[in-house]
Amino acid sequence: ASGGRLVVVSNRVAMPREVATGGLASAMRAALAERGGLWFGWSGKVTERPQMHRSHEGGIDYVTIDLDRADYCDYYAGFANRALWPLFHYRPDLVDYQRSHLEGYLRVNRLFAQKLAKLLRPDDVLWVHDYHLIPLAAMLRELGVRNRIGFFLHIPLPAAELLIVLPRHRELLGTLASYDLVGLHTVRDLRALENYFLHEIGGAMRPGGRLRAPDGRVFQAGVFPISIDTAAVAQAARDSVKLPAVQQLKESVQDRALIIGVDRLDYSKGLPQRFAAFAQLLEETPELRQQVIYLQIAPPSRSDVPEYRNLRRELERAAGHINGKYATPDWVPIRYVNQSFPHEVLSGYYRAARVGLVTPLRDGMNLVAKEYVASQNPEDPGVLVLSRFAGAAQELGDTLLVNPADLTEVTEALVRALSMSLRERKARWRAMMDVLEKHDLTAWRESFLEALYATRLVQAPSP
Ligand code: UDP
Repeated sequence: ASGGRLVVVSNRVAMPREVATGGLASAMRAALAERGGLWFGWSGKVTERPQMHRSHEGGIDYVTIDLDRADYCDYYAGFANRALWPLFHYRPDLVDYQRSHLEGYLRVNRLFAQKLAKLLRPDDVLWVHDYHLIPLAAMLRELGVRNRIGFFLHIPLPAAELLIVLPRHRELLGTLASYDLVGLHTVRDLRALENYFLHEIGGAMRPGGRLRAPDGRVFQAGVFPISIDTAAVAQAARDSVKLPAVQQLKESVQDRALIIGVDRLDYSKGLPQRFAAFAQLLEETPELRQQVIYLQIAPPSRSDVPEYRNLRRELERAAGHINGKYATPDWVPIRYVNQSFPHEVLSGYYRAARVGLVTPLRDGMNLVAKEYVASQNPEDPGVLVLSRFAGAAQELGDTLLVNPADLTEVTEALVRALSMSLRERKARWRAMMDVLEKHDLTAWRESFLEALYATRLVQAPSP
């Protein structure tokens, strides 16, 4: 059963010549190279004459398709990022549902299914990624595809009370039953899925974590918390002392304590609350003024969606306000940087920071939290202040956990982190590093694929 190719399907494909920005890209490449495989998805191009692009490199076939303007707007900028993303991150107030967006989403998924079905061999095993492609398996099944198909959701799956806010939610989410395996980050996400399937779809629980849909389809659901390449991050952090960017940051900080935040500019990351908590820290603890610097790296993202542009304006105002109020001629409290940095530089920045401040309102996992921990100097590790609403909090319980909406709790955690003894810092860091060394990115992909290969092939013919 494991002889076939691996076929990875995701909205975006990390092409061989591109720098693999996310850990996921390198994990998928490694998995594909190992088994021989195909990576299929959107090319990232928007054009009036969509084409299919094929290439082969490092034992991997890459096939990508372009989208036309309407498909991009409805499927990607519309339904995926203005309905599913906010809703799944517990922000129904930000959902902008339009029927035409949903139709575009279904249209692009059907297009993916039609193109992909022609490329498949009978013993291929498919791994579909994320919220852009929820109905893909159902559409492949309609075309007669009987291969084993797994799905991994990289964002949270919210409680059923939120899912039912989405018009036609049953039509969309019921299609998850067409997969053989559905993977989620945390037990909380898994419980949400089970609950939703039981009460909204009319399904039933089966032994061994399987779910049965009313039409008789049975699929496996499981928890697979994504991780980082822990050893590589730690090595990059050790090597980073040589980098001029890292040396310059250290020199500019001098002997002050650096607090670091690294987040895409996204409303799920809790940045306005984080800025407010830092302002409260300065207000209530005047002795810390001059002594701390908060560096927030926030590369802009999805700027064609209005909520993201509004957030950017709001943060510019907040950073300007706080700096105007507390800065002195030789010290500025917040360094707010709308730029992205390569991983090597980030790991050096993490290592230079006494506190990692990671306070999303909701996050599927949050890899920055894990990277911060893996980048620390074992002899003098920093302290992670982490939102309990990040998936990472399930594994990194040895850190200071906070509710990001409670500014006082965040402020108190910062004070505690800044004054924590070396002994306590080391003990907490070691406990978390043990988790990350055991559960790294390779372990994540292997456990998912193992579970996928272990699913009973209900839909497939016997070999
Ligand atoms: N990242 C980066 N450069 C930056 C900012 C972020 O390479 O300037 C990386 C970061 O190291 C992490 C990823 O982007 O690996 C963000 O993942 P996370 O799960 O924290 O959040 P997401 O952006 O997926 O919501």
